[in-house]
Amino acid sequence: MAPVLIGYAIVFGVLTIQDHANEPPTVAYTEFQTQVRAHNVKEVFSTGDSIEGQLKTAVTLPGGGKGETYEKFTTERPEFAEDDLLAQLEAGGATVRATPVVQQRGTLLNLLISFGPILLLVGFYWWMLKNQRGGGSLLGKRKESRVAPGTVRTTFADVAGIDEVKDEISEIVDFLKDPAKYRRIGARAPRGVLLAGSPGTGKTLLARATAGEAGVPFFSASAAEFIEVVVGVGASRVRDLFTEARKVAPAIVFIDEIDAIGRSRSGGGFGGNDEREQTLNQILTEMDGFTAEEGVIVMAATNRPDVLDQALLRPGRFDRTITVSPPDQRGRLAILRVHTRHVPLADDVNLERLSRTTPGMTGADLANLVNEGALVAARRGADTVTALDLANALEKVQLGAARNVVMPEAEKRRTAYHESGHALLGMLQPGADPVRKVTIIPRGRALGVTLSTPDTDRYGYDEDYLRGRIIGALGGMAAEEVVFGLVTTGAESDLETATNLARNMVGRWGMSAKVGPVSVLPPEGDPRATGVSEQLLDTVDEEIRRIVEECYVSAVTLLREHHDQLESLTERLLERETLDETEAYAAAGFTRV
Ligand code: ADP
Ligand code: MG
Ligand code: ZN
Repeated sequence: MAPVLIGYAIVFGVLTIQDHANEPPTVAYTEFQTQVRAHNVKEVFSTGDSIEGQLKTAVTLPGGGKGETYEKFTTERPEFAEDDLLAQLEAGGATVRATPVVQQRGTLLNLLISFGPILLLVGFYWWMLKNQRGGGSLLGKRKESRVAPGTVRTTFADVAGIDEVKDEISEIVDFLKDPAKYRRIGARAPRGVLLAGSPGTGKTLLARATAGEAGVPFFSASAAEFIEVVVGVGASRVRDLFTEARKVAPAIVFIDEIDAIGRSRSGGGFGGNDEREQTLNQILTEMDGFTAEEGVIVMAATNRPDVLDQALLRPGRFDRTITVSPPDQRGRLAILRVHTRHVPLADDVNLERLSRTTPGMTGADLANLVNEGALVAARRGADTVTALDLANALEKVQLGAARNVVMPEAEKRRTAYHESGHALLGMLQPGADPVRKVTIIPRGRALGVTLSTPDTDRYGYDEDYLRGRIIGALGGMAAEEVVFGLVTTGAESDLETATNLARNMVGRWGMSAKVGPVSVLPPEGDPRATGVSEQLLDTVDEEIRRIVEECYVSAVTLLREHHDQLESLTERLLERETLDETEAYAAAGFTRV
């Protein structure tokens, strides 16, 4: 409530000061009496014991008065004064007026004084209302937002490429449009819908679109924000959110990133997080407390459905999980169409082809791609976005923006060998993803980049493919060893990539005979918590090491065997700095159709 109080105090203070500035001098009561007796008082206004007045003729202030003359004055009549003031004033022909205490000051100030407390209350109320629509809160910032019915503009037309999911959601929309229909027939209302999928696949978008389609209010909050604030607030925010939603039901309450509070309570075990648990419990309580009539649907999104507490997934809670996958080629085409609706495209743009060269990209990636393309075109001052603009944008999105630094010659040479090593190993192995681009122009934190993407969408990986990926990842280091006999520190992230792939092969995908076809590594957290023995973990470590080492030997061997190709590719790369797919394969001496 501080802002309003301060505001009020400032207004009050300023006016008070101004009032004083205009005030006539305060004279002694005895001086006043002198003027009364001299019949020099023209008129007085009295407010209680305060008297404000005007003289007929200006006089000089007596006593310590610095020669100052006054005509208007104020004075205080002592309570013990027993003079016949009124009679004396009348005798002197003065006009006498009196007002009640409050009304004596300037009108605005009077208004403020009399209506101040009401203004204060109204202001406070207004401020509270503003908060509930998503401003700050009594205890820190509040990010939940509420969107009134009919104002969610997002509809299913904005969501493309995930038609299976839309079908499932349509049922929810139908329920929200007419909860009574379901009630009449005694059908159990859906309650919680969990949207699971990688970041950028359109979960948030879908939740909004559901509200938009159904024309119901949309309340959204991010679970992470519930718990990052003052302790004890998370639960009460949840309560508020649901109370608000119930008032205007049918409505949707959307909780984003629910894994931030909904993580399994077993397992993680760092002494527990009370705030998180209280908040989670409050959500569960709210959901359990729903009655069929209410028509509040809770939607939540997560990209880690595997770590969620089972309590959340029980019947009557988030008993429906909808998996939102990254789009396939047709989906990408549909998404590109949605996002280019308002972008003027040049005739040479072929969205079909663009959708084929972007496997693995999510809806968010594609939206970003189109936006980057439009930016490139705008910078050029063009009215349309061309195929080249989009190609440049794709490069930027996939490789990161180029950095403008001059590399020392030796560094450049080493980088060229390093990238050529990655690229050549990608080209040499049958079944590996084709190399699309090799560059030694520094981008982001990398000195160079080799980009490989599959020809078609991949849905699973076999062991050979994965080993090929590890060999390719180690190709940079291997090339440095083959050429210079030494490996630099630039290969850190390559090692990380290789190790992670090997870890998944051994620990999760059952690709090690020694460990067996079992999943021993949880996606996250300490495997010991799930009862995996130290001994088995040692074996897993050994196996990871073995795979990475074997792959490294393969990489070095392959590059030694194809040293001449490595040299020619490197030379070309040094000369051109960036090679596209065709140029790269040609430089390495491959003839491709
Ligand atoms: P998530 O919540 O799954 O991380 P978002 O819903 O925040 O993803 O998606 C971010 C943006 O990406 C959306 O605002 C939209 O512009 C775009 N997008 C994602 N998926 C799709 C899709 N299926 N259709 C159209 N646009 C999409
Ligand atoms: Mg999201
Ligand atoms: Zn590398």
